[in-house]
Amino acid sequence: MSTSSIHPHRKLYLREIEEAFENLKTLEKDGFYNVPKITWWVLKYEELYEYAQAHRHVGSCIDGMGCSCCEKVPESRFSGLYPKLQEITELHQHEKYFREELADLENLRHDHPALMQWLKKNEKLGTEDFLMFWIEEWYDEENQSVTPYLFRQDQIFKFRASEWQHTIRFLEEFNELYWTSDACPKY
Ligand SMILES: [Zn+2]
Repeated sequence: MSTSSIHPHRKLYLREIEEAFENLKTLEKDGFYNVPKITWWVLKYEELYEYAQAHRHVGSCIDGMGCSCCEKVPESRFSGLYPKLQEITELHQHEKYFREELADLENLRHDHPALMQWLKKNEKLGTEDFLMFWIEEWYDEENQSVTPYLFRQDQIFKFRASEWQHTIRFLEEFNELYWTSDACPKY
């Protein structure tokens, strides 16, 4: 089946997508979202995402492919946003790991070989997985808020920095150390 095909019950799905977007808006409080609420939303709409993903190119003029005609279509918008919110919840699961890694770092900071090992061990997390948290503006120290960078999304999801405290510290330490170290291949 083509991702451009129209589902026989599309109307019902469109209503559900609209409800999901409405629901998402109500999760924001005083300008902030929080991870437990986003997690709840992601779990609630898991099946809807499967539908939206399978029909994400409805309205496209190239069968089975995306074009500018389907970008504003609800299926396409939903299937674009959903995995990013899911990724935010998955990235947040690293909080505990980062707390432990930061404790280790304190003990090996002045031990060069051990420090290089630590950087190598965390290289993928620091340089790839946390891409959403790379862009300079993600952390607003003054307002104590975190805004993961969502490529091609007009909606902003702001979190309280306290919810991401170990992630913030880890990325600060990692970036400070990694890019000018022997562990970084390009340096
Ligand atoms: Zn088109």
